[in-house]
Amino acid sequence: MFSPKMLKLGKVRSVIREIFEYGRKRAAEIGAENVFDFSLGNPSIPAPPEVNLAIKELLEKENSVALHGYTSAPGDPAVRKAVADSIAKRFGVPVTPDYIYMTAGAAASLCVTLKALTLPGDEVIVFAPFFTEYRVFAESAGAKVKVSMPGEGLQIDVDNFKSLITPSTKAVIVNSPNNPSGVVYREDIIRKVCETLKEKSEEYGKPIFLISDEPYRELVYGGVKVPYLMNYYKDTVVCYSYSKSLSLPGERIGYIAVNPAATNAADLFAAIAGAGRALGYVCAPSLFQRVVAKCVDKTSDINAYAKNRDAIYNGLTALGYQCVKPDGAFYLFVKSPIPNAYEFCEKAKEYELLLVPSDDFGCPGYVRIAYCVSYPQIERSMPAFAKLIENYK
Ligand code: PLP
Repeated sequence: MFSPKMLKLGKVRSVIREIFEYGRKRAAEIGAENVFDFSLGNPSIPAPPEVNLAIKELLEKENSVALHGYTSAPGDPAVRKAVADSIAKRFGVPVTPDYIYMTAGAAASLCVTLKALTLPGDEVIVFAPFFTEYRVFAESAGAKVKVSMPGEGLQIDVDNFKSLITPSTKAVIVNSPNNPSGVVYREDIIRKVCETLKEKSEEYGKPIFLISDEPYRELVYGGVKVPYLMNYYKDTVVCYSYSKSLSLPGERIGYIAVNPAATNAADLFAAIAGAGRALGYVCAPSLFQRVVAKCVDKTSDINAYAKNRDAIYNGLTALGYQCVKPDGAFYLFVKSPIPNAYEFCEKAKEYELLLVPSDDFGCPGYVRIAYCVSYPQIERSMPAFAKLIENYK
């Protein structure tokens, strides 16, 4: 009677949500300070002051009918210009406002882009570990997902990637800094991925598109650089979000930027507009389009995440946990001491530690720790982590 695919999606609860709900229940039972919930990637630092200032100014000074009204589908022209100018200035790519499509966050950017690019049966390659929703978004567009397993240091294994490309490959999704590993892909590896894409596109006589999903672009520590993919590969579409960089996940605001040098760029942009229309997005939230235009080059004060990263990485490795030091985002991907990460997470619950098993990220045998939490939570959780690992020594 109903779409079986949609029914299943609606009924199967995400593992992360389930753990989060469990954490709420436990907090009510034993007190929030005694539960160490590392399950959700929800920013824990406030938006920069400029965001509140921009909201106030817009509400005070602008005509409220226009401010809350529809914008044109791809977005307010002045907002698109502010975004394009910022990209051109920061990354040296001549993106123009005609190639900026404002969206309700990266999730919408990805759904729209995948729907615009793929035909039923097309393949989309993702790199494990990967954001679980890629599968939902790609399969909803009718595409098939292929998973490339990681190499050393959870970087992309270029040979494995190459072996997965077929004439049906339409797109590849790169997410760096990565959720769930926090890894930033090295520039030399990005170059190899792009060379491979060029070679294969030429061999098959049609472009394979690179989708750069980058909600964590600004969340990097220790001066690490995140390559801007349009500078390495022309058939690139950037799916961006202000959810993390400006700590605005509930406001639903981001954009799609199409490289003007991409194959049939104008038609690609038109297909993106068509997909946005077909998916019923109408336009991105008007007030927040205007807010981000005033804050395009701002980032929340990420020092708290940097401090958390050091504390949790140093603390856990000293206890004997194994993980790659993350250069970005706010996640730590820790090797489970036993092959079954679900079992390990169940054990962790006995110490009130709420961790996410990695199976849905396409990379079994790990757990994800979202360290976008208060610093005292990290400090208080260390004895629990110490007791947990004792079980496996
Ligand atoms: N892509 C990745 C890798 C994410 O981690 C997230 C959210 O956590 C998204 C996309 C979706 O972000 P948004 O809130 O902008 O829709």
